[in-house]
Amino acid sequence: MADLSAFSSEYREAREKFLDAAGAQVSHHAHPEKGLYLDVAVVGARDAERVFAVGCGTHGIEGYPGSAALTQWLRGGAAKRVPPGTAVVLFHAHNPWGFAHKTRVTEENVDLNRNFVDFSKPLPANPGYDELHRAITPAEWTEESVAGAFKWLAEYKARVGEQAYSDAFNGGQYSHADGVYYGGARQQWANGAFRLATKEHLSRAKKICFIDLHTGIGPRYDHIYLCFHPAGSPGYERARAWWGERAVNRQGVTHKALAVYRGLLIDAFEAMLAKAELTTMVVEFGTLAREGVQRAALLQRWLRFEGPGRPELIREYEEAYYPLEPRWRELVLQQSYELFERGLKGVSGW
Ligand SMILES: [Zn+2]
Repeated sequence: MADLSAFSSEYREAREKFLDAAGAQVSHHAHPEKGLYLDVAVVGARDAERVFAVGCGTHGIEGYPGSAALTQWLRGGAAKRVPPGTAVVLFHAHNPWGFAHKTRVTEENVDLNRNFVDFSKPLPANPGYDELHRAITPAEWTEESVAGAFKWLAEYKARVGEQAYSDAFNGGQYSHADGVYYGGARQQWANGAFRLATKEHLSRAKKICFIDLHTGIGPRYDHIYLCFHPAGSPGYERARAWWGERAVNRQGVTHKALAVYRGLLIDAFEAMLAKAELTTMVVEFGTLAREGVQRAALLQRWLRFEGPGRPELIREYEEAYYPLEPRWRELVLQQSYELFERGLKGVSGW
């Protein structure tokens, strides 16, 4: 039997395990809601030129498996393998409110991974989403109403094509605060905290590897890499050298067209640290096929704005991002361990 004790069923439990495994060097950014934090653990010298960084919980609930991966890696003696001149920086719970409340979004129903836009400028328009909103926000949650929403989506996709469909549905929208993939009307607390922590811990580094951990769409029991470095660029080539061809060829990605995402956390990270040599990667541990995750997105929105949810609906939602199945959890630990070891090795030059 695999040791799954790094997994938790509550935020506070996950945080305690992480802090315990991390040891002394942790800084805390307190969220306005009592007891919630972005915690940042540093292993190695604070002024190291090379940094291997990992973050989790950008999408709240997805932080449970991410947290377990970080905790297990720390428990396994990761600190002892950090070479001189390199530090490891681990962000625990980018969106602690969503983590604690077991939802992807923030306290304002905002998808943090669409919130890193410039709020001093007009916000991006998403006319496609404006068209979708009514059809995908049923007041009642029944199999009929859900089937109706998906029928509408299928017709919309047939009409506009895969790319426009993805952009409309999950590229991010700034017009409907009670909708899905809502990017917000202002910077979220978690956005500001992430920027502060990044500045504090990474602004001195010259070579940085950063992985943002997610769960959701993708082959179950496996993970997918979403590399946003332009093909052939140095960052792209480093990712390929460290994790192999699958890190850049979108292996396992089932979307026929990936949305043009707006306001990603990783974009802000890159903009803030533009002077460093960056290798960034989004890694997604697969849970369900696309329609299952889309259904979960609609369900999250329904539970928040229409509810109250029945226990089986809440369970269904949680299962889409944090499966209970031991085999799934065991593979997250195995695969993340290798992911981290390779990233650390790559950025440290050892
Ligand atoms: Zn995610």
